[in-house]
Amino acid sequence: MTRRIKLEDIRTLNVFNTLTRKQESFKPISDDYVKLYTCGLTVYNYAHIGNLRTYFFEDILRRTLEYFDYRVRHVMNVTDVGHLESDADTGEDKLVLGARREGKTPEEVARFYEKIFFEDLVAMNILQPHIICRASEYINDMIEFIKVLIEKKYAYEVEGNVYFSIERFPEYGRLSGMPVDKLVAGARIEIDSNKRYPGDFALWLSKSKFPNQIMQWESPWGRGFPGWHIECTVMSIKCFGEHLDIHCGGVDHIAVHHTNEIAQAEAYLGHRWCNYWMHGEWLVVAKEKMSKSKGEFLDLRAIAKNGYMPMHLRYLYLTAHYRQQLEFSYESLTAAKNAFENLRTRVLELKAINEPVDSDRMLKENIQAKFWDAIADDLNMPVALALVWQILKDTGLSSVDKLDLLEDFDRVFGLGISQFSRRDLPDDCKILIRERENVRQRKNWKEADRIRQLLTEKGVGIKDTAHGAEWYWLM
Ligand SMILES: [Zn+2]
Repeated sequence: MTRRIKLEDIRTLNVFNTLTRKQESFKPISDDYVKLYTCGLTVYNYAHIGNLRTYFFEDILRRTLEYFDYRVRHVMNVTDVGHLESDADTGEDKLVLGARREGKTPEEVARFYEKIFFEDLVAMNILQPHIICRASEYINDMIEFIKVLIEKKYAYEVEGNVYFSIERFPEYGRLSGMPVDKLVAGARIEIDSNKRYPGDFALWLSKSKFPNQIMQWESPWGRGFPGWHIECTVMSIKCFGEHLDIHCGGVDHIAVHHTNEIAQAEAYLGHRWCNYWMHGEWLVVAKEKMSKSKGEFLDLRAIAKNGYMPMHLRYLYLTAHYRQQLEFSYESLTAAKNAFENLRTRVLELKAINEPVDSDRMLKENIQAKFWDAIADDLNMPVALALVWQILKDTGLSSVDKLDLLEDFDRVFGLGISQFSRRDLPDDCKILIRERENVRQRKNWKEADRIRQLLTEKGVGIKDTAHGAEWYWLM
């Protein structure tokens, strides 16, 4: 749909700002476009479904901004160097760990998981960022940035390592609202005798615990590599300049990563940097219910093996507010799958009806307004999603109006409603379904499961009923 919202219908978009700990009306710095920076993946492994929930939340935010006619420029980084095992400058670089695990170079590991990561985002119907920054391609910018912090005496060098001095930045910890001593104690920081204060964090590491670190660059302080926190700050300022509208990430980024980002950026710039900080809550895995998947690494490949498509996960994510923890279990994913498939069936039924029927205009406008209110209320997806089922049940709306509303809402949901279509089943799938029926009659359940898996990979779902197997498109 290309319809734009009429001016009088524009709602004020309210978002919860972690920085002020309250809901605020969103006002961009410039009328041109909204500057949105989101922390991307450290590409040493597949993105798990907890990571994907954060990218989903950021996608909903961007879609909502665009729905309200803001132009958005979205930058995401890819961390391919400098992210140590612990956020507090300890442990080994995750890329080096990945390289050793797989017998590849860190670069090979980074490019491999980066490619899969962006394919996963496409599968989840998450919009691609306009600009993707690889940390390893901005090393010189980071070095120049660190030089300025040293000149301004916010950073100091000891034995080839450069640290940010948090005592020089009195507002340190503003984002989490935690006093510095608590932050430091909570971080369980390993004693690093080079640091003047235990809470100081590394901007550049030349003589770390791992002198044979594979990824190293020349710097004024010796061959080494940047700290993780400096990467996002430098790339964001490089792409957007001195001011940023929205910076996002998971709640796990608040206490250290984003706290350090604010300190570096504002020390460098000499003024406030980013107006809105938004964070997505955890996805928690209900362990007791996960017997089916003991020790399983939960990513899109794992859920596909169990018969679930990325869109089922997307539907599950829509059922919870982004600032609420969401409990993942295969039971909750099954409920989401059933709801999504039910939605598809209902939409296909609506698409099959062509008759023009009288429709209640007021009712339609009323539901539309409720949707605007829900998404403008800090992206309240559960309330917005409930409207979908209200529309489907409603007897006063024509099928045309129902579809019109659903496709309009889907600009935010991203479930692909306008692409739902009836397609014929290809012959090879028909053969597989017949074969599966045969092996089921012989009670060969293992083979039946194997064939079901093959069909899932082809995007075909199977439901066993009293009258035999029924098939449906998974996407
Ligand atoms: Zn970041």
